[in-house]
Amino acid sequence: MRKLLSSFSIATAVVLATAAFVSISSAHAATSEAKFSIGTKGDQLAFDKAKLTAKKGQTIKLTFSNKAAKDSGMQHNWVLVNPGKSDEVGQAGMAAGADKNYVPDSPDVLAKTKLAAPGETVTVEFKAPEKAGEYPYVCTFPGHYAVMKGMLVVK
Ligand code: ZN
Repeated sequence: MRKLLSSFSIATAVVLATAAFVSISSAHAATSEAKFSIGTKGDQLAFDKAKLTAKKGQTIKLTFSNKAAKDSGMQHNWVLVNPGKSDEVGQAGMAAGADKNYVPDSPDVLAKTKLAAPGETVTVEFKAPEKAGEYPYVCTFPGHYAVMKGMLVVK
């Protein structure tokens, strides 16, 4: 009888411990944040990552490094836009001019870094969109948006 009782207690303890572990894990998932590190491909008009993946509504801390040579004078930024809006935002960015860091005041701009000089690293923190989809990111420095781009996949 005594032996039965103690195995029952152990079984209960295992179940309770498992339940506690599960609840801690799911709480962690809800508050987890994504940290992305992205750069340029050296002096090229290209990001070194063409695709990033995040969860809906997740906090994203993104670090963007301009890896162009110091004497290249190449400036870049990282701008996240609504699906299908990269060309529109890129063109509006050119029109927005240097005072605005070539980023237009547009509801289609979801997140942005400031312009990074060669060798400079900039950061931005934002919430991933609440709606699943494929959100393009581009550099809006004049002439770059058509080729300097990637995709944030929100699941
Ligand atoms: Zn650029």
